[in-house]
Parts: sequence; structure tokens; C-alpha cells
Amino acid sequence: MKAEIICIGTELLLGQTADTNATYLARELAELGIDLYHKVTVGDNLQRVIAILQTAWARADLLILSGGLGPTQDDLTREAVAGLLGETLEFQAEAWQEIEAYFRKLQRPIVTSNRRQAMFPPSGRLIPNPMGTAPGLLVEKEAHCLVALPGVPRELMAMWEQEVRPYLKGYPAQEDGAVLTSKTIRVVEIGESAMEEKVIDLIQNQTNPTIAPYAGQGEACLRLTAKSGSEAENLKLLDALRSTVEARLGQYIYGYDSDNLETVIGRLLKDKGWRLAVAESCTGGLITHRITNVPGSSAYYLGGINSYSNQFKMKLLGVSEATLAAYGAVSNETAKAMAEGVRRISGAEVGLATTGIAGPGGAVPGKPVGLVYLAIALPGFTQVESRVFSYNRIGNKEAAAQLGLTLLWQGLKKSNLGN
Ligand code: ATP
Ligand code: MG
Repeated sequence: MKAEIICIGTELLLGQTADTNATYLARELAELGIDLYHKVTVGDNLQRVIAILQTAWARADLLILSGGLGPTQDDLTREAVAGLLGETLEFQAEAWQEIEAYFRKLQRPIVTSNRRQAMFPPSGRLIPNPMGTAPGLLVEKEAHCLVALPGVPRELMAMWEQEVRPYLKGYPAQEDGAVLTSKTIRVVEIGESAMEEKVIDLIQNQTNPTIAPYAGQGEACLRLTAKSGSEAENLKLLDALRSTVEARLGQYIYGYDSDNLETVIGRLLKDKGWRLAVAESCTGGLITHRITNVPGSSAYYLGGINSYSNQFKMKLLGVSEATLAAYGAVSNETAKAMAEGVRRISGAEVGLATTGIAGPGGAVPGKPVGLVYLAIALPGFTQVESRVFSYNRIGNKEAAAQLGLTLLWQGLKKSNLGN
């Protein structure tokens, strides 16, 4: 099966919106083992969209469309699909009921222009949208499959996960009927190239499963993909290679597949019955944000203090004026006092603190932009790490948050061994 991704929206051509949907969809197709030969972007112009769809229909079996399903006049994906199929749009009562139900749930009045979203080509089926008003569209015709999803990334992703991916799993991606299964191994502390070096022979001699390294945000990943007649056989093949990789990279592996640092940290804290409190300066709440992105985090997360100023560091965390005067707000000593302070004041077993210079200004002699200190205070020990990042302000904040969480993960693991 050959796929093509078609992103529709003039804002994409103008560079106003980064095309994250295409990236997401491409990754998902690779995961499913579906070959992707072309990704196309086209503006909100009916004739041009139809032309692109015709080209794609001629060279691909599976067309995935993003955007242009909204209620306004420039949302013309439905018309374009009808044009491609040589069909006329019809009002679909079932779709209209879904849209009405969505508005009722939000307690918002429905607008007549929303009726446009209930217009479907007769050979199309509705894909429910749990997060918005625009239903998706699925067409199966002439050995082709076309899936149209709304442009809003969280709607597109939810519909993909809940409806489209399970549906495509039923399709044989490979001509020989083989099944593909992947496993992602996630590592922190070492970069992509250092990780690759440790498994380079496995990469060079790969057969089945295949093994592919790639860089993530503040982490590196290895994707193992097995191919055989059945999922069960694939899992056996993956388990064997995974053990080999774990023997090489064990200490750096924090999780698998959809894990991230905050979910793994959550599991470790829950297992121990420990609670976490955070004191953030340069990360401005990013760590709190990530920790609380995990459902159920209230079981172990007490809260965070966004202690940006020296006053807050002193009054709310008990950092002494003498420490701040002698070493400065961005220092090993202040980071330590912040982590221990938030731990003491909150009564949590674990304190985590960040302080640094996000930039672009604020450098002083001996303290460059991008310098950060991360501290963890656990029962029995406090640890401080520092690093100099060279990104822009946002990049430095994100990298500091990632390193803070990495340090926390390591600390929790270490105290596991001690217990
Ligand atoms: P809705 O009516 O639900 O908004 P839609 O299908 O009409 O959905 P668009 O109007 O094309 O979608 O886009 C909605 C939003 O999604 C816009 O903010 C747009 O910038 C964003 N968006 C559209 N396409 C993409 C894309 N390929 N990647 C990331 N964001 C996108
Ligand atoms: Mg649009």
C-alpha cells in the first residue's frame, strides 16, 4: 500500500503555521509499515486541491488529507473530494446530529454555517470527532482509500488514534501479507550519536528486526521493527533484540514506546509512595506543566513554587540572603537550597529545583547565557548538576526542564537500588 499525505491550508504555504500534522502522520504511517512516497501542501483553492487529489489518486492507494473541513467558505475539502470522485455533496443527518450533540455538550449555540460540515459525498462515511465540530470523512472506492481529517492538530491526532489507526491496522500494509510490529526504546543522558556508537554493529548487521536510531526532544530513540507472518512471531523477534540492546544501553533507557520522563517518574513515585514538590526559577513552571500533564499526578505531586525573584526564593523557599549574596541566584548553592527548601516546607519526600540564565541577556563574568543548575533533594541525599545550553531562550528553558526531569528519574532509580 502506497500512501500520500495532502495538507490543505493557505496558512501552511504562507509559513504562518508549521505543518506538524504532516510530520505526525508521516511518523504514524512509518510505524504502521505503510510506504509514503509523497507529501504535498496546497492552499485553500478548489481547483488546485482537486488537481492535487487527482494526481495523488493516480499514484497512491491511500490518501490522507488534513485541514479544510471547517464550516467557513474557505473550507473546501469536502467539495474537492466530491469533485475528485465526480459526486455531489449531500446532507447527512447522522453527521448533523453529531455536530448538534457537540454544541449541546459545550452549551454553545449552533450556527447555520455548521450545516456545511454535514455535507458528504454519497460514497463517504463519517469519522467522529470527539474534540471538535468538524467530522472527518472516509471514502473507499476503486481500490483506493481516502481519509480527510480536520486541521486542528489535537482533533486530527485524537481521530487518528481512535478511528483511523485501528482501521488501517486491518489493511495489509505489505503485498506479501506480512505484519510489521515496532518497539521504541527511549534513552536520555546520551545523544543520538553516542547511543548509535554503542549499537553500531547491530545497526550495520541488521536484518529482521530492523533497527533505526533517531533524535527526539532532549532524548534519543531506537526503533526496532520486526516483520513476519504474525504479531506473536514479531513480539518474539523484538524481545530477543531488545535484550541485546538493553545489555548495551541499560543505564540510559528510561522507557519504551509512548513513555515519557514524566510518566515514568510518576510510576516510580507511586511505587515508593513518595510525593514531589518543585521550585522553579529559569524553567518558569515548565516542569510543573509536564508533571501535571500525566493523569493521576495528584497522587504524588504536591505542587510547585514559581520562585523567579530573589524575594520568592527567600520568603517562600527559605533560601538565605547570605547564600544569594555570596553565590548569586544562579549557583550550585542556591539550587541546593531551593530543592531542600521546597522539600522541607512542603513535607514532600522529593524536592526538585531549577535556576539558570535563559537569555538572551543576563550573562555575568563566569556565568554565561544558558548556564543552569538543577537540584534534587531526596531522603538521604541532595544532588546538584549544572550544564550550559546554547539554544535560544525557549530552547534553554525546555532543555533545563528536560535535564531536571532526567536528574529526578536518575535519583529515584538510585534510591531504588539503595532500598
Ligand atoms: P476546524 O474547522 O475544526 O478548525 P479545519 O479542518 O477547517 O478544522 P483548518 O481551518 O484548515 O482546519 O485549520 C484549523 C487550525 O489547524 C488552524 O489553526 C491551522 O493553523 C491548524 N492547522 C491546519 N493544518 C495544519 C497542519 N498541517 N499542521 C498543523 N496545524 C495545522
Ligand atoms: Mg483552513
